[in-house]
Amino acid sequence: MLKMSTKLIRHALSGATMGARWQALFHMPQGFDPAPLAVALQTAVADVDAQMSTWRPDSALMLLNAAPPEVWQPLPARLMLVLQTALAIGQASGGAFDIGVGDAVTAWGFGAAQVNETAIRAALARRRRPAQDVVELDSANLRARKHGPISLDLSGIAKGYGVDRLVEVAAGFGVTGGLFAIDGELRAVGLQPDGTPWTVAIERPDHHIRAAHAILALQDAAVATSGDYRHWISAGAKRLSHTIDPARGGPLARSPASVTVIAATCMAADAWATALMVTGSTDGAALARKHNLDVLFLERDGNDLRETRAGQMFETRSPQISCAMQPSE
Ligand code: ADP
Ligand code: MG
Repeated sequence: MLKMSTKLIRHALSGATMGARWQALFHMPQGFDPAPLAVALQTAVADVDAQMSTWRPDSALMLLNAAPPEVWQPLPARLMLVLQTALAIGQASGGAFDIGVGDAVTAWGFGAAQVNETAIRAALARRRRPAQDVVELDSANLRARKHGPISLDLSGIAKGYGVDRLVEVAAGFGVTGGLFAIDGELRAVGLQPDGTPWTVAIERPDHHIRAAHAILALQDAAVATSGDYRHWISAGAKRLSHTIDPARGGPLARSPASVTVIAATCMAADAWATALMVTGSTDGAALARKHNLDVLFLERDGNDLRETRAGQMFETRSPQISCAMQPSE
């Protein structure tokens, strides 16, 4: 029998979601129709958004926020999974990742509403218990209840989970290699068709220009970067970080310029990147090693950038990461 040549075709799919764009880059044998997959990917991220957005008053998360304390609220399974992960990382990070900062996010104008001074004062004055002490999850019965008023915000983890969903859905269509992303959260699956890893640029933390600080080579790993250089609001001459210090109820006063985390899932990478912005590099590097994360902290030191590296991928200075400055794509 004649063996058909299997020519690989490159596909680059994308769409709008969560105030950003999702992207999927992969190769499939000739004849593969990407249209149904594109629809399925768009549906999957729209589903994450419908469950976890704080911009939609009717999202499952906002229904839980609106429910009175002590009343069990039914939850869809994916929201349950993300809440479980968020609370676990909240615990593991010593409260640095805290999805209970929704009131502060809204007050400072990082959410759907305008900045509000009265709400800021209330957020700063509030005595906070970490979300994992307030929210009780009953995963067997897909329900949750709150032991006190709390405003939950999953914006520090939902995009990462959305990327994991892109990967799962594509796998269901037989896609065994590719690069999947929402905004700056990415996940590489398998290898490129030529057998080399996928390459991803870590941006220079500079809001004036877009350039690469380093190039990462990734195979079956997710990467997320949090930084102070992309999302902020101006307060006079000051730029306010959209990462909230849960101990204070306000934007981080000091943080690394950026934190890049490599983890098995994009959900974990996303949440940890936010958490490690809060802890900073000293405590953060120790936490990263304890939890087997690969992390690169970049901190400004005058005109220089100081690096702190944790985990095998960054500490061995393997050829996979090169720190030459290169223009970003
Ligand atoms: P970054 O990539 O800069 O971390 P993300 O999109 O991952 O940004 O998450 C930032 C969002 O996470 C904020 O806009 C806010 O909604 C939420 N958030 C802010 N601070 C925290 C925190 N300490 N723990 C959990 N979520 C937070
Ligand atoms: Mg995050």
